[in-house]
Amino acid sequence: MASGDRRRLAVLGSTGSIGTSTLDVVERLGGRDRFEIAAVTGNGNIPLLAEQARQVGAELAVTADEHRYGELKEALAGSGIDVAAGRSGLIEAAEREADWVMAAIVGNAGLAPTLAAARRGADIALANKECLVSAGSLFLEAVRKGGGRLLPVDSEHNAIFQVLENDQRHAVERIVLTASGGPFRTKSLEEMRHVTADIARAHPNWSMGLKISIDSASMFNKALEMIEARHLFGLRPDQIEVIVHPQSVIHSMVGYTDGSVLAQLGCPDMRTAIGYALSYPKRCDLPVERLDFAKLARLDFEPPDEVRFPALRLARWAMEAGGVQGAVLNGSKETALEAFIKGRIGFLAMADIVEKVMDQLADLPAATTMDDVFAADEKARQTAAGLIK
Ligand code: NAD
Ligand code: MG
Repeated sequence: MASGDRRRLAVLGSTGSIGTSTLDVVERLGGRDRFEIAAVTGNGNIPLLAEQARQVGAELAVTADEHRYGELKEALAGSGIDVAAGRSGLIEAAEREADWVMAAIVGNAGLAPTLAAARRGADIALANKECLVSAGSLFLEAVRKGGGRLLPVDSEHNAIFQVLENDQRHAVERIVLTASGGPFRTKSLEEMRHVTADIARAHPNWSMGLKISIDSASMFNKALEMIEARHLFGLRPDQIEVIVHPQSVIHSMVGYTDGSVLAQLGCPDMRTAIGYALSYPKRCDLPVERLDFAKLARLDFEPPDEVRFPALRLARWAMEAGGVQGAVLNGSKETALEAFIKGRIGFLAMADIVEKVMDQLADLPAATTMDDVFAADEKARQTAAGLIK
C-alpha cells in the first residue's frame, strides 16, 4: 500500500526513450519522497535496467528476455529487489499494485502487460499506441471495466486530451493531427527507394526509439496515430485529419462546430506529455525548453502526400474496414519494419507488404475476444513473412 500520500507507479519499458524520460520526470517531481516504484521493465539492456531499479528503489525488475534472467539476478544481488523475466514476468510487473502505470513497451509486445494493468484498474499512461491500433474497442472495454483512467501520452493525443473539454465533446467536428513529415518530407520516391535504416532513423525534431523513428520516416507512425485517435476520442474516420507541420510546435488541434480551433503548443519534448499524464488533472513544474515565438518566427503547414506516404491511405482503409484490420496493419507493419531494419527489404517495400497483407486478410472476422486479436496479429505476421521470403 502507498505510505502517506506517496503514489505507487510502475514503468513498463523503463529502459526506452519514453521510459527514461518518465523516470526523469518522476525524479524532478520529487522522486522517492513522492513516489514508490512498484516495477520497472526492460529487454536487452540489463545494466541500465539494474541501474534504474537500484536508483528508484523499485520493488521488482523484469527483463522481457528469459535468457537474461540470470544476468539481471546477478546485477541486482544483495539489493532486495525482486527479479523476474519473460512474458509472465511482464504480467507480474503490470499486476503489482500501482495506481499509475506507464505503458511504454514498444510494439505489440506491450499489449498483454498493458491490458493486465488496465484490467486491474490502474490509471494507464498510454505511450504504446499499438494497444489501441490492434485491440481498439476491446482494449477500451478492459479499461472501462477495470475502472482506471486512460491518459494519452503520445504527444498528438496528449495535446488533444489537453484541449478537449469533456462537456464539449458533442461539439467536436474534427481533430487535426500534426506530423513533422519526418526526414523524407521533401525527398522523391526515387530517393526514398534506396535509404537505409540508419538514414531513416534520423528524425529532424524528436529523439525517440529506433522503431518509432523509422515509422515516422514512412509516416506509419502517423497512420497508427490516426487509428489510435479514432478509438481514444470516439470519432468517425472522416473526422480525423493529418497536416504536415515541419516545426513540430503545434502538437495537434481540435476543431469545434462553431469554427473554433484549439491547439496545444510546446517544444518537442515528451516530458511535457508524460508530466501531464502523471499530474493530471493538475499541472506540474518541468524544466523543459520554453517556446520563443520571436525566434520561431513562423509555423508552416502542408498537406500530406499519400503517394509518397501510402501508410496514411492504409490507415483510412483500416479505420473504414474496422474489425481486426488495425491488428493486421500493425502486425504486418512490425514484420516489414524488422525486415527493413535488417536490410532484407527496401524502405518503400514496407507499405507494399502491409497493403498486400491487408488485402489478403480483408475477410478475417471481427474480434470478439483478445485471443482473436492476437490470432489476427499472428496471421498478419506470417503472411507478411511469406511475402518477404
Ligand atoms: P524504445 O525502443 O526506446 O523503448 C522500448 C522499451 O520496450 C524498452 O524499455 C525496451 O527494453 C522494451 N522492449 C523492447 N522489446 C520488448 C519486448 N519484446 N518485450 C518487452 N519489452 C520490450 O521505444 P520508445 O521510443 O520509448 O517507444 C515506446 C512506445 O511509446 C512505443 O509504442 C512508441 O510508439 C510510443 N511512443 C514513443 C514516443 C517517443 O518519443 N519515443 C512518442 C510517442 C509514442
Ligand atoms: Mg506521436
